Amino acid sequence: MSFHSVRSEQPEGLAKQYLRNLRRRDFLAGAALIDGCWVSSQHTDVVVDPATGDEIADVARCNAADMSRAIAAAEQAFPKWRALLPARRGAILRSWASLLLEHSDELSILVTSEQGKPLEEARHEIAYGAGFLEWFAAEGERAYGETIPSHKVGSLLQVRMQPIGVTAAITPWNFPVAMITRKAGAALAAGCPMIVKPAVETPLSALAVARLAEQAGVPRGVFQMLVGDPVELSASLLRDPRVRALSFTGSTQVGRLLLQGAADTVKKVSLELGGHAPFVVFDDVDLDRVIKGAMAAKFATSGQDCLAANRIYVQRGIYDAFVEAFAAAMARLKVGHGLDPATDIGPMTKLSVANKCRIQIDDAVAKGAKIISTKPYGDLGANFVAPTLLSDVTEQMLVAQEETFGPVAAVLPFATEEEVVARANSNEMGLAGYVYTDDLRRALRLSEQIECGMLGINTASFTGPPIPFGGWKQSGLGREGSRHGLAEYMELKYVCFGDLAA
Ligand code: NAD
Repeated sequence: MSFHSVRSEQPEGLAKQYLRNLRRRDFLAGAALIDGCWVSSQHTDVVVDPATGDEIADVARCNAADMSRAIAAAEQAFPKWRALLPARRGAILRSWASLLLEHSDELSILVTSEQGKPLEEARHEIAYGAGFLEWFAAEGERAYGETIPSHKVGSLLQVRMQPIGVTAAITPWNFPVAMITRKAGAALAAGCPMIVKPAVETPLSALAVARLAEQAGVPRGVFQMLVGDPVELSASLLRDPRVRALSFTGSTQVGRLLLQGAADTVKKVSLELGGHAPFVVFDDVDLDRVIKGAMAAKFATSGQDCLAANRIYVQRGIYDAFVEAFAAAMARLKVGHGLDPATDIGPMTKLSVANKCRIQIDDAVAKGAKIISTKPYGDLGANFVAPTLLSDVTEQMLVAQEETFGPVAAVLPFATEEEVVARANSNEMGLAGYVYTDDLRRALRLSEQIECGMLGINTASFTGPPIPFGGWKQSGLGREGSRHGLAEYMELKYVCFGDLAA
């Protein structure tokens, strides 16, 4: 079974060539990690290069019985893992991070081969991913509780943070390494075992991360990874009361299903779902700086990023100049295979994402938007989408309503601050936002008024291990990274010591 349906006319190749020379052959074994053993299966799924449709590997397809074994192994591993000193758990996480960095070249090749992003961005993802393991290695030592001034005579009131138990993660294909380490770093530092089900499109880099976890000394059953049918595997996780917490990154649609499924066993659920970031440009800004920010906020990960600027609101006074300069910058983007060092924009990982971009472009044009720039790239294949600049977009168009997740930039004119705040907040998503203005008082006002979990003021670069990553409204629940990320895998326990009077 293949989860992709693309086949292009490109000569076969780049990914296969790179993978043939991969030093760590075990990274291509395609076996799942269950209870400390590498498990193959007679049933396999094919991994393809999204740029060419080439089949590049097979991975074991795990089933519900495999998941049940993994849950039992995690439960067995829990008492010993939680009893380790946090510093000891931290040391293991740090060696895992070092191994990721040591194998950055090979991991990046795997990411680009199965996900499609340019190799340089894949390298950046490995460093970003290792950063979460390092951050949580230290943060695990700071899971302080509280002492509460007592409201009862002769009593001492304490609040402790204790690991929640067996945890699970379902991760996406756009950041196939970093979304695993962001979740597992926190869970393991908190003292919890974690079972990961990576995206079916990108299991190779995920399984390589699991190989490195084992090499770093993560004990048997503490970190496990199973690839397979998402519905079957997630159903096993959801209905099992031994799994106490579930963390998911992906679409809002699947996030809702998981939230419903977790209700029967009342699991703690963290959801990092879709975004629809407003990118607001006032006419007092320096054009060069804002174009640099808009390019980064729109085209990182070829647009397949939940932080991507989906609605670029530009004030009338700077609108024409912005559109002209943005089109000129976009014209310099090179579309191609992610393993070609010249590439800025790779293929969409899934054909459905490429098709969604095309539907949004057609819908916008039918409703009056103008295509200002579209970059021809030849016949690379159905998963490629030309970087496209749409101007005069309105909120009636699909592109301004649904997450795009591709290299389509929608620009909307606005007149006043009051108007743009209302329009920016008119979407049900509330993950990230961006505001560009040189007026300090206005920046402070907007920082209070924009409804989102993360806001960049005069910057498009703000993510990283120390910040609480997460969204408002239908963009999710809970936070990842930062000290708040650790709390997702911990329970509070209030203890009252009474009758202490001598
Ligand atoms: P998705 O939500 O289907 O996939 C994400 C993860 O969920 C993968 O591991 C997948 O195997 C799993 N999954 C899929 N269906 C499931 C089900 N019924 N039950 C349990 N797990 C399931 O996302 P997608 O369809 O691949 O992408 C669609 C859109 O989702 C994108 O266009 C984008 O808007 C959004 N998305 C967001 C992020 C993010 O970083 N927040 C990541 C990926 C996709």
